[in-house]
Amino acid sequence: MSAQTVMDPIRFAREAASLGGEFALAEVDRLRDELVEEGGVVTGVATYRLEGALVGGRPALRLHIDANPTLRCQRCLGPYVQPLRVEEVIFLARNDAEMERWEKIDPLLDVIVAVEHMDVRMLVEDEILLSLPVVPRHEEDCPRHDDVLGEH
Ligand SMILES: [Zn+2]
Repeated sequence: MSAQTVMDPIRFAREAASLGGEFALAEVDRLRDELVEEGGVVTGVATYRLEGALVGGRPALRLHIDANPTLRCQRCLGPYVQPLRVEEVIFLARNDAEMERWEKIDPLLDVIVAVEHMDVRMLVEDEILLSLPVVPRHEEDCPRHDDVLGEH
């Protein structure tokens, strides 16, 4: 499993380059506390694709991630598989000043400062961490679902 890096992200965006890969969620140290081990094994895989683009004239990265971590339902305390799908557009500023200027124009923009040798894996991990539910629970078919409904 080799680390994937983009040498020059702004050029990657301008050339509409793309790359993709996948990794086991068990490899992500930062996820370890969130994931449920079953029989001592953490299951689940993340697959991702990164595409360079110019969005509104600005260099950007479109990031698509699919992952299937096993989390612990906070209602019934049972493990369940949480499908995660991330579709993110990340704008690439040349420096802090440009990032601040863009964010002032549109506070909702997701902007990072482009660095040489950008670590794609780190970016994907960050987005997975951000997209985990704050309170994990079965979306449907929670064994305790009826109990909760009964309280109302
Ligand atoms: Zn549940």
